[in-house]
Amino acid sequence: MIETFGKTLYNVPIKDYTTYKLDGIIKMVVYPDDLEKLKDLLKYLKENAIKHMVIGNGSNLIFKEDYDGVIIKLDNFKGLEIKDNIVRVEAGYNLMKLAIKTANLGLSGLEFAAGIPATIGGAVYMNAGAYKEDMSLVISEITVLDDNLNIRVLKNEDLDFSYRHSLLQKSNLICLDATLVLKHGDKQKSLDLIYDRKRRRIESQPLDFPSAGSVFRNPDGKFAGELIESLGLKGKSVGDAVVSEKHANFIVNMGKAKGKDVMKLIKMIQDEVKENYDVKLKVEQEFVE
Ligand SMILES: Cc1cc2nc3c(=O)[nH]c(=O)nc-3n(C[C@H](O)[C@H](O)[C@H](O)COP(=O)(O)OP(=O)(O)OC[C@H]3O[C@@H](n4cnc5c(N)ncnc54)[C@H](O)[C@@H]3O)c2cc1C
Repeated sequence: MIETFGKTLYNVPIKDYTTYKLDGIIKMVVYPDDLEKLKDLLKYLKENAIKHMVIGNGSNLIFKEDYDGVIIKLDNFKGLEIKDNIVRVEAGYNLMKLAIKTANLGLSGLEFAAGIPATIGGAVYMNAGAYKEDMSLVISEITVLDDNLNIRVLKNEDLDFSYRHSLLQKSNLICLDATLVLKHGDKQKSLDLIYDRKRRRIESQPLDFPSAGSVFRNPDGKFAGELIESLGLKGKSVGDAVVSEKHANFIVNMGKAKGKDVMKLIKMIQDEVKENYDVKLKVEQEFVE
């Protein structure tokens, strides 16, 4: 039955769908063919009480263990329309690709996204950002599918954006597309900024090992990485999950790390930081069960 909604894969490794590449299996992955098929699939999953979740590039996810449900991928939702400085882009489109494409057209505003391996849907959900800029600064509105399978348009001010937060985190809304308003800028300046930021990331982040970016949110006025490094926790490990030697706010997977290894390591870091600095580090990555 599920195959009628789009390409369906069974018992696939979690590592093929996430940047952490943790050990484990996803029972089913479905790529709905189009919006109608997506609606039908959601209806079917709800009626049959089947656990499910839409994911993007899996670049912020820690699967705790095998996933006994359906992962929905919006790879067939990658439309892009650019008219003057207005960009309408579907949820499955790659954020970095969009940053380079718009910069090449002399549009400025997405340079911050260089090095964030997100889809548009995941970037809106997380209000992804860097260098004190984020998605909330460029989004004018998004189209969502709500719990009753109705299409709704939500304006920027409806989206409750703040640091790595959006309304989508407190709802079951599925982002279908986003409309961005960019500024006319200087193509070369935007491209230089993008490549400079990419270079800085290569220098400072452990991009040669699987991870999901920063593990912890920066607490007010402090850097999580600095607190962790000052406690000598670089190199600390549980199984193959290791606090990166290059950047202490990254946990990297040195081979066959499991979700429970990452979780244990996170808890150890939180306990040490709490004990020594009385700061409760909040996890920026999302646990999936
Ligand atoms: C090397 C590296 C560097 C990173 N650097 C940064 C950085 O500088 N700044 C930053 O903010 N993040 C960074 N990240 C983290 C990550 O890229 C972001 O959190 C990103 O927004 C996640 O997007 P995604 O498409 O991979 O979403 P996923 O990780 O697949 O999903 C994240 C959440 O979004 C939800 N979601 C996905 N698509 C939709 C949709 N269409 N509708 C509704 N919900 C949806 C999922 O259900 C899930 O809850 C980094 C990650 C890595 C691996």
